[in-house]
Amino acid sequence: MRMLIIEDERELAEAIADGLAAEGFVADAAHDGTDGLWRALHEPYDVIVLDIMLPGLSGYEVLKRLRAAKVWTPVLMLTAKDGEYDEADALDLGADDYLSKPFSYVVLVAHLRALLRRGAPARPAVLVADDLALDPACRRCRRGNRDIDLTAREFTLLEYLLRHPDEVISKTDILTHVWDENFDGDTNIVEVYVGYLRRKIDAPFNRLTIETVRGAGYRLRSGAR
Ligand code: CA
Repeated sequence: MRMLIIEDERELAEAIADGLAAEGFVADAAHDGTDGLWRALHEPYDVIVLDIMLPGLSGYEVLKRLRAAKVWTPVLMLTAKDGEYDEADALDLGADDYLSKPFSYVVLVAHLRALLRRGAPARPAVLVADDLALDPACRRCRRGNRDIDLTAREFTLLEYLLRHPDEVISKTDILTHVWDENFDGDTNIVEVYVGYLRRKIDAPFNRLTIETVRGAGYRLRSGAR
C-alpha cells in the first residue's frame, strides 16, 4: 500500500512516514501544497493524508484540484482543533475522512486501514436542472458550456435546492440545511444568498431558475427556461 503525506510540519510528516513504514506502508512525504498536488496527480497512491494549513496551496485547494482532475484517491484530512476550518468543511469538499490534531498514531493507522478497506468511494452524481449542472464531487458549476464560480456557501445552497427540484422550500428549511444548525441569525441571510445565486446562475443567462413563492419560500424549476 502506497501513501502520500502532505504535511509541512516535517517532523510530524517524518514520524508518520516512519511509523507507517513499520506497518508495511510505502509512505512518501510532501511538505507544501504544490509539490503534494503534483505527486498526487502523477503517482498512483492508495491513500493520501492531507494537512489543511500548508504553504503553496492549502489542503482545501489541493483536494479541490485533485477531484477536479478526477483523481478519486481516498483522502484523510488533518484538521486543527481551533483552526479556521472544521470537519464539516473537509467533508463538504470531498475528503473521505478527517482527524483532528493532535491525534494518536494508533487512531491514524486505524482510520487509514478503514479507508483502504472501503477503497475509492462512489462519487455523487451531477445534479442537473435544464442546462444548469452542479458537480458536487468536482465542486464545479456550469450553465451550458460556461463555468460559474460559486463561493462555498452559494454552492451548498444551490446543491440543496437542486436536490429538491420543483418543491417549495421554506427559508427556515434552507437555513437549517445550508447554515449551521446553531446559526441564530434571521432568515434575511437566505434572501441575500438567493440574490447572489440569481446574479450568477440566472441573470446573466436571462433565466429564472429560482422562483420566489410569496409567503412560502423558494422553488427551483428543473425545466426552467
Ligand atoms: Ca500545517
